[in-house]
Amino acid sequence: MQSFVNIKDMNKDTDRNPHGAARGVIRMAALALCVLLLGLAGCAKAPYTGRSQLIMYSEADEVKMGLAAMQQVLKKEREVTGTAESARVERVGRRIAAVAERPQYRWEFHTIEKDAVNAFCLPGGKVAVYTGLLDLADTDAELAAVVGHEVAHALARHSNEKMSRARMVQVGQLAAMVGVAAASGSSQAAQAVGDGYAGAMNMAVMLPNSREMEYEADHIGLLLMAKAGYDPHAAIEFWQKMLKQAGGKGKSDFMSTHPTEAKRIDALRAMLPEAMRYYRPRDDGASGTAGGGAVGSTGGNAGGKAAGSGSGGTPPVGK
Ligand SMILES: [Zn+2]
Repeated sequence: MQSFVNIKDMNKDTDRNPHGAARGVIRMAALALCVLLLGLAGCAKAPYTGRSQLIMYSEADEVKMGLAAMQQVLKKEREVTGTAESARVERVGRRIAAVAERPQYRWEFHTIEKDAVNAFCLPGGKVAVYTGLLDLADTDAELAAVVGHEVAHALARHSNEKMSRARMVQVGQLAAMVGVAAASGSSQAAQAVGDGYAGAMNMAVMLPNSREMEYEADHIGLLLMAKAGYDPHAAIEFWQKMLKQAGGKGKSDFMSTHPTEAKRIDALRAMLPEAMRYYRPRDDGASGTAGGGAVGSTGGNAGGKAAGSGSGGTPPVGK
């Protein structure tokens, strides 16, 4: 909305500073551009939290962008397939995706061979988990905490929101520059902004999420893992482990882009009662927080589920 104020002010100036007919044409173009871009803006609401969002790109755009970006990632990184680790990521991912209720995203869950405690989700539901993180997530429920968080970023369309915010800033700048161009009778300034415009769009998707988005992903992720039948208490255990690791050597890549402070775990703890309302334990023994995970397990243990939890399928509930 700021951009409208700028345009108006600029136009006042140009009215006092006549440069012929071109001025009017450029001014009209600037206004048309703003109407077009603002017209495309949608006010959406984030799922579960109901937070108002600025969303300017379609879901189809997100799917296309995410797919292209993931293909780029997979060209550079070494993907693991056909192992117990990749089966584990796929298994947990599918369970979370099933409750995310966005079949149009065509979810993908990739395992990447890298000694980095990291995971990410690209727009449109393309998720990658690094083997370094799998070593830290002892149980499927702990892995579900991470996957749930990443899926939540896609579900809440955080990349779209970042791009939309960047686009709004660009619209403002472009409008200002076109105003300057109108005043000076030169279109070079507007051209310069136009050149930088597309690049800025691409950059926005790589920008770190805001703290607000991270907390929202924690919140939604906790509800998703519970809906998928994983005890949400496992999220607390996992993030505590992450915090300890970050406090030690601080080698976690995930933590470089995610808030690590104890406050975050406190916030998660406060969300537990809500998450427990969604929690429907499965009787496959893989839901609980305790017991042996499937890390590195091969063969025999069909499906690699946490058969060693010994809880008879009833995960520990309470605290
Ligand atoms: Zn995150």
